[in-house]
Amino acid sequence: MKKTDRELGMLRQISRRDFIHGTSLTALGLMLPTGCGPTNDASTVSTGSVGYPPTRTGMRGSHPGSFETAHALARGGVRFDNPVDLVEEYDVVIVGAGISGLTAAYQYRKKFGPESRILILDNHDDFGGHAKRNEFHQGGDMRLSWGGTMNLEYLSFSNPVLQFLAGLGIDVQQLNKDLDFHYGGDGPAIWFDADTYGRDVLVPGFSIYGRNLDALDKIDLFPISESGRAALRQFYSSDTNILDGMSEREIEHVLRRTSYTEFLSRHAGLPDEAVELFTKATDGYWGVQPHSLSTTEAMNARLPGSHLLGDESDRAAGLEESEVVAMFPDGNASIARLLVQSLISAVAPAANAENIATARFDYGQLDRSGASIRLRLESTAVHVGNEDGHVAVTYVRDGTTSRVRAKHCVLACYHVIIPHLCPELPEEQKEAQRYQVKHPMLVTNVLLRSGKGFEQLGITGAYCPGRMHAKAWLIKGVNTAGYHEGRDVEGPVPVMFWGMVAPPRRDVPIHSQLREARQVLLEMKFEDFEHEVRTVLNGMLGPTGFDAAEDILAITVNRWPHGYAYGYLDLWDSEWKEGQAPHEIARQPLGNITIANSDAAASAYTQAAIEEAFRAVDELN
Ligand SMILES: Cc1cc2nc3c(=O)[nH]c(=O)nc-3n(C[C@H](O)[C@H](O)[C@H](O)COP(=O)(O)OP(=O)(O)OC[C@H]3O[C@@H](n4cnc5c(N)ncnc54)[C@H](O)[C@@H]3O)c2cc1C
Repeated sequence: MKKTDRELGMLRQISRRDFIHGTSLTALGLMLPTGCGPTNDASTVSTGSVGYPPTRTGMRGSHPGSFETAHALARGGVRFDNPVDLVEEYDVVIVGAGISGLTAAYQYRKKFGPESRILILDNHDDFGGHAKRNEFHQGGDMRLSWGGTMNLEYLSFSNPVLQFLAGLGIDVQQLNKDLDFHYGGDGPAIWFDADTYGRDVLVPGFSIYGRNLDALDKIDLFPISESGRAALRQFYSSDTNILDGMSEREIEHVLRRTSYTEFLSRHAGLPDEAVELFTKATDGYWGVQPHSLSTTEAMNARLPGSHLLGDESDRAAGLEESEVVAMFPDGNASIARLLVQSLISAVAPAANAENIATARFDYGQLDRSGASIRLRLESTAVHVGNEDGHVAVTYVRDGTTSRVRAKHCVLACYHVIIPHLCPELPEEQKEAQRYQVKHPMLVTNVLLRSGKGFEQLGITGAYCPGRMHAKAWLIKGVNTAGYHEGRDVEGPVPVMFWGMVAPPRRDVPIHSQLREARQVLLEMKFEDFEHEVRTVLNGMLGPTGFDAAEDILAITVNRWPHGYAYGYLDLWDSEWKEGQAPHEIARQPLGNITIANSDAAASAYTQAAIEEAFRAVDELN
């Protein structure tokens, strides 16, 4: 039943941080640093005030305060002249404390020796980049969830990456064994919402993925027209190979040059209302919707239809190699934490891979005066340049523009910002970096008083074709790295809402779609996300007695306007000759500056972030 804002609990005091939503350029200008008391004494860098960011709720990910300086530089053309020269001297300055930047620091020390002086800068108030820990204490014992990067798809890792993880004490196979979480696969459902479909309908036992031959009767429950339901039943049950009799060229066209949406309507004969059901099914997996993906790309994400192409296997029946994962309870934030602990052991002296998920970190140790390795948060690099055999890095922190010098610099930040940081790069390289527009992503964690509603309904998650977040999962069954949240554990439990924000569908190039989605995400207020998750939870769990006003203990929105690294897409990208693809041009070194980040591999994976850090450090002499 539809509820008022008050009944949904919109006016309740839940745990959240004050939120300032995306701001206009004029406002950005006004918010810019005004040069308040510059200093060149590094010992005054205060990290103690940082507190313990993982427990912060409200707007996280690209949180207020993290992006304004970069936007002023890139969008507003603001210049950060007359920096204060710090007396600090480093061997390397690394821009970006994501998995790639932290790995670069680790490798640098390995290559150049334990005395290496390293400064790592990041614009966020926490390290890890996308690998972000969301930690909750509301309502009792600590509960963890993923704010971003979660899976280690370790079967596809190279030996150097596996050895690197082993060097941190990480046993990926053990992590996999201790994992009993399946992204809703062990209790799937589709939830049709009243705003979109006229009434709230939960259909347990039906997955949007795979062929669903054993669950075709569930289609009778879908709140669409009878002809739409009949077409869906026919689609799933048909054995006709539509490629029969086609030439190789025609087959290639269907598989690689036809969007999945067009495949469904033109080749599989589904009416629009049935095609619409799949619109959000690739949101989390790809960060792109099926109308922009080829038939093959969508089917690789296990969307149905391969049985109409002569593929007799039911792709949903068994796990594909890419779906065998290892996971920490806070995702790859545990890897970021292990890296930081290895670089600056005082942050958590007793932490190791066995207990990293529960280890408390002292952020006050990250940037200690006199330490050889320092991690400086809330610091946005605004200029990086080669100067007389050295590199000078200018950054803004707390309204102060400072400059440090080092022998080397590794840029482990997003590539689209690099042309603004490093104007001396060749024009062709800057153009290639601008090509790498990341896919905006969204992960909203909601701490519930208990998971009883889900249990009563017999589901572990649901696909929500009509809502902002494509999916919601109950986070139970992660028993790794010292943390235990078994299925039988009572009390508060996080539900993770997963997906992206799509702008209205228009026939525009993919880069424009991604930029538009990024802006939409940035302009949304915390209350928009809050209203959304309260509405969904009320509609889905309301029949079990769940009360959105009483049973929600905390909400953390992790918005990632710069999310997945841009990977090339069948419908949008050329086939470049070796060495000519944008990411290969974009990552070329310049003097003592080298370039890492998962963008450098055009691949949105942790292993890519690690390998690109290896390469970037290898390139330094
Ligand atoms: C929601 C989400 C889920 C994901 N899930 C998975 C998954 O399950 N498995 C997987 O393998 N991969 C996943 N990924 C992909 C993920 O991007 C990579 O795995 C990896 O974490 C990327 O690390 P990185 O260091 O290359 O980049 P990032 O994590 O983006 O780190 C770069 C850092 O540099 C900072 N920075 C940028 N500009 C500046 C500047 N001017 N000054 C200072 N700092 C700057 C950024 O803010 C950021 O903190 C996911 C990504 C997202 C967004």
